[in-house]
Amino acid sequence: MEQTLSIIKPDAVAKNVIGKIIDRFESNGLRVAAMKKLQLSRADAEAFYAVHKDRPFFGELVDFMVSGPVVVSVLEGENAVAKNRELMGATDPKEAAPGTIRADFAESIDANAVHGSDSLENAAIEIAFFFAKREIV
Ligand code: ADP
Ligand code: MG
Repeated sequence: MEQTLSIIKPDAVAKNVIGKIIDRFESNGLRVAAMKKLQLSRADAEAFYAVHKDRPFFGELVDFMVSGPVVVSVLEGENAVAKNRELMGATDPKEAAPGTIRADFAESIDANAVHGSDSLENAAIEIAFFFAKREIV
């Protein structure tokens, strides 16, 4: 059993497709162990994406992540990290495989509907960023 962190980004929340995205997870062997909707502050977004702080798109990424509310979840299941990444599809929705969340719900490489942890180690860090232990059940 693994846990991973998922974020439904502001573009997908604005499109009112939270339920459709969560259904992709639940229909593919993942379960929601924790979930909340929140508005990230600029400090939250900068800290969460600190690994990308030297990338040219960092400013736009932070602007986008604070542009509206997000839904943050802990997803649990067998190979949850890789399974979530598979369901998400490639970072650029134009390159995302048909039937993936990004192919179906995302518009562009910056407004790409979802975030998912890229390793078990980062999943633990990202889960702790958003959730207290007692909130994960
Ligand atoms: P992923 O979200 O697939 O793990 P990365 O960790 O590489 O992708 O990038 C984090 C986020 O930064 C992406 O989801 C996307 O929103 C944004 N991003 C990545 N590359 C670019 C880019 N070339 N231009 C604009 N935004 C980007
Ligand atoms: Mg990433």
